[in-house]
Amino acid sequence: MSTPETGPTPDSSSNSAGREPLSGAHVVVRGLARQFGDHHALKGIDLEIQPGESFGLLGANGAGKTTFIRLVTGFLVPSAGEVTVDAISPTDNPRAAQARIGFVSESARLYPELRVRGYLKFAAGIRGLSGTSLTRAVDDALGRFDLSDVRTRRIGNLSKGFQQRVSLAQAFLHQPGLLIADEPTGGLDPLQRSDVHAQLKSLRGQHTLLLCTHDLDEARALTDRTAILYQGQLVALGPTEEVLADGQSLDLFRGHPQTDDQP
Ligand code: ATP
Repeated sequence: MSTPETGPTPDSSSNSAGREPLSGAHVVVRGLARQFGDHHALKGIDLEIQPGESFGLLGANGAGKTTFIRLVTGFLVPSAGEVTVDAISPTDNPRAAQARIGFVSESARLYPELRVRGYLKFAAGIRGLSGTSLTRAVDDALGRFDLSDVRTRRIGNLSKGFQQRVSLAQAFLHQPGLLIADEPTGGLDPLQRSDVHAQLKSLRGQHTLLLCTHDLDEARALTDRTAILYQGQLVALGPTEEVLADGQSLDLFRGHPQTDDQP
C-alpha cells in the first residue's frame, strides 16, 4: 500500500523501472465533486491534461487543490463524477492508477537517519521493484538527480535542497507517467528553488506534470496551462501566461473576488 513519503505502489501489470519511461499519462476529469458532510470541497470539475503536458493548479487556501490531488491519487472517493489516469479509475483500480503516479511535496518525510542510496532502495522495494530492476532504478535516479556524490550521506545531514532532490528521485523510481508536485519548493531558499525548477524543467515532455503551487513565478516557469480553483470551482483554465495576465483570475487565485460595487 502507499505511504505519504513514498507515494503509490505499482501493480505487477504496470510500468516499472527497467522498461522505457512512459511519455506521459493522460488525465481526464469529468464532473468531479467531493463533499465533506455539508461542505462542497469540489463542485463538478471538468478538465483534461494531455500526455506530456505541464499543468498548474492554483488556488487560495481551502480552494480544493489537496482534495483534487487526493481524488486523482485514489486516496479519496468522489461524491460524483470521475477521474481517470490513462483511462484507469483510481477509485476502481487504485493500485494500477497509482503505479502511473509519482508524488513529491514540500512535506514529504524522508527518514533522516537513512543514507540516500539506502532510502532509495527502500522506496524502490515498497514500489515492488527487486533484483537488477531495483538496482538499475536506484542508480538511474541517483544519476538523473545528481545525487551520486551524496549517495552514502545520511539524508538528515543534507541541505533542504538536496533533500528535495532525494524526494524527486524517489518519485521517479518507477518511471511514472504522471508526476504530481504539491508545493515542491516550499521552504527552499532561492538557489535551492531554482535547482528544483531546473530538475523539473529537464523532465518536461517526458512526463505529465500536475503542479500545485501558490507561487505565480513557479507556475509561469514550469507549466504550459493553468487552472484556478476558487471555493471548489474551476474559475479559470487556459495557457498559463493568459490566465496569469487576467486580473480577475488573479483576484480569485488570491481568494479575493472583486465585486462591481467595490470602489
Ligand atoms: P491549502 O492550500 O490550504 O492546502 P487546498 O486548496 O488544498 O488548501 P483543500 O485541503 O482541498 O484545500 O480543502 C478544501 C476544503 O475542504 C476546505 O474548506 C477544507 O476545510 C475542506 N476539507 C478538506 N478535507 C476535509 C476533510 N477530510 N473533512 C472535512 N473538510 C475537509
